[in-house]
Amino acid sequence: MDETPPKPPGDEERHEPRQVRAREYESIHNRMFVARIAVTAVLLTLYLFTGASMQLAQGLENRFDDAWWLVNSVYIVVTLFFFSAIMFPLSMYGDYYIERRYGLSKQSANSWFMDYLKGLILELVLMTLFLWVIYALFRWTPDYWWVWATLVYIFLAVVLSAVAPVVIMPLFHKFEPLEESELTRAVSDFVERAGLNVIGVYKWGLQEKTETANAALAGLGRTRRIILGDTMLNDYTRDEILAVLAHEVGHYRNRDMLRLIVTGSVLAFLGFYAADIVLRALVDVLGFAGVHDIGAFPVFIFALFVFSLVVMPLSNAYSRKREFAADAYAVRAMDSSEPLIGALNKLADQNLADREPPAWIEFLLHGHPSISRRIEHARSINRPND
Ligand SMILES: [Zn+2]
Repeated sequence: MDETPPKPPGDEERHEPRQVRAREYESIHNRMFVARIAVTAVLLTLYLFTGASMQLAQGLENRFDDAWWLVNSVYIVVTLFFFSAIMFPLSMYGDYYIERRYGLSKQSANSWFMDYLKGLILELVLMTLFLWVIYALFRWTPDYWWVWATLVYIFLAVVLSAVAPVVIMPLFHKFEPLEESELTRAVSDFVERAGLNVIGVYKWGLQEKTETANAALAGLGRTRRIILGDTMLNDYTRDEILAVLAHEVGHYRNRDMLRLIVTGSVLAFLGFYAADIVLRALVDVLGFAGVHDIGAFPVFIFALFVFSLVVMPLSNAYSRKREFAADAYAVRAMDSSEPLIGALNKLADQNLADREPPAWIEFLLHGHPSISRRIEHARSINRPND
């Protein structure tokens, strides 16, 4: 049913059948994204205006008397759990069923569900902790909680970035140093020439669960490392792998991890400030005891949710800029754009990336420039020998 009429394998047409699927896959993803936003918005509205949130808060207050920390913790756990439960069909459809249908995931339903549970538990623990601290700040420093909340956010962002490759990511995939081979010698040569002997390169065990390929710079300080998906190590030429590695080295050289944390912190600061204004304007009208009243939680989350949607195109634009900069580094380091272009072409087909998504979709939703723009940009880079 997905067959397209046969075409002579021209330069761009060679990727065509795969691209038809990629465009379908992309459009399903976008519709899922909109569905998740709509369901979240409806749930938050219902939770607030049916009085369910207020009733839960009051019920817990009656039960636990003045132990507001206990009231808040239980409220947050119960609320996050119910929201996740209602969203579960969407998660299962988008993250399991679609991935299987398009031949990207190799996971059984069981294995997917175990990963989903791990992710959910991690999210519940981290969110409960974070929100608990925020609600403590509402009481301790009601006028400047948003300043303190930003500091807590920065602390968490730094700690999570640092522990991600050693504690969090290994919960989902295996990581091991690259085995000694011709490739690793080329990799160490390259890393040494780039003046980065301090940084480790690890194999990211993706192929057990997925057909897709990926590479990343992860960690902070002593945990900082470049991780290369094993799904890439098998099918890419040595130079293509080095180009992908060079792209990640580019992120490292450009201090993109730090930039990400700094811009995230600025956005968090603005978001908390905006949430403060919204909360103050609405708590009395809606009959809550004050901003610290956990019953008003849906108002707080709705404000942050809308803020994050509004700034998403901004942070995506910044991210795409950083991706172009890392690509430019890779082209210069490889002294040719061909290996990077080769890798990008393989990645597009392997990961079912739409090479040319509509411009407005890319503007709103994509943290990476489209493959066609990345290839065009890579060709335009002036190399040292030009
Ligand atoms: Zn990148």
